Amino acid sequence: MGLPPVDRSTLWPYQDGEPGEFYYQRYAHPTGVAAERALGELDGGEALLFSSGTGAATSVVLGLLGPGDTIAVAEGCYYGTPTMFRTLERWGLNHVEFDQTGPPPDNVQLVWLEAPSNPFLTMPDFEAAAAHPAPVLVDSTAATPVNLRPLEHGADLVLHSATKYLGGHSDVLLGAVVCGDPATADRLREFRSRTGIVAAPDPAYLLLRGLKTLELRVRRQTETAREIVRRLQGHPTVERVRYAGFGGLLSFDVDGDARAVETSTQLIRNATSLGGVESTMESRHRWEGDRVPENLLRLSVGLEDVDELWDDLNQALG
Ligand code: PLP
Repeated sequence: MGLPPVDRSTLWPYQDGEPGEFYYQRYAHPTGVAAERALGELDGGEALLFSSGTGAATSVVLGLLGPGDTIAVAEGCYYGTPTMFRTLERWGLNHVEFDQTGPPPDNVQLVWLEAPSNPFLTMPDFEAAAAHPAPVLVDSTAATPVNLRPLEHGADLVLHSATKYLGGHSDVLLGAVVCGDPATADRLREFRSRTGIVAAPDPAYLLLRGLKTLELRVRRQTETAREIVRRLQGHPTVERVRYAGFGGLLSFDVDGDARAVETSTQLIRNATSLGGVESTMESRHRWEGDRVPENLLRLSVGLEDVDELWDDLNQALG
């Protein structure tokens, strides 16, 4: 069975003079609602789509927090997240970084975890976070609902850059927040319509398509990543390998020039982003500076044959 056709209308006629379920695209559209229903089922909550993962993150903090509030954010998480928090500092929003493998600090109004963190691959202490009085958000982009359902571990909100594994084909920019509490979902939905940080119908369609193969892709990527990790751990020029034990994302430190390694692969693309069907690898130092070791390479394992991937990596490692 195929997917329903994309309805790109920006408006739908009133029924008997009254707005129906859909009336203006910024409020809701059929493809978006279908995609939200599908993702909500996977994560066990109420899903809302946004224009990107970053748009989703911005909406959470501006929609749910106020001036003077502080976010405790996992250190070593996706660097764009604290960068966005810094951009919002002049609106009175503060943040502190903490080690998510332990309890969050006191006197914060939101706890921001990442499972596993990108590119350090640490996992949060869910129990310690759930015991904190502030609401807990888990950026579950790299785990996906196939490997983790954060709402079952005491989280209040789940965030996805659907640009990554959920879309899965490196051709859609999209974000999502899944709420455990319908009242929070209503607040965010209203914030989204008023600020216009919305997802269009075509990205929502590509999410629906991606979800059809999500489990198969993630299982295969996990299988391949585990084997690549095993081989990297035995490689003489690899100093350290980081992996959460599941999913397709890993990072490793080379004994030598990471830039020389990343530009020597043929099959593995030297590109940013992650979660696609094609493997990508890059030095994160180029973007994050001293926050990450200069010799760290982040690898997002795709759907290629494991031996072909290893041959490519092995020759690049020299
Ligand atoms: N969260 C994580 C873990 C990410 O890796 C990314 C993007 O790299 C984002 C959020 C931001 O998502 P987007 O690029 O869709 O704005």
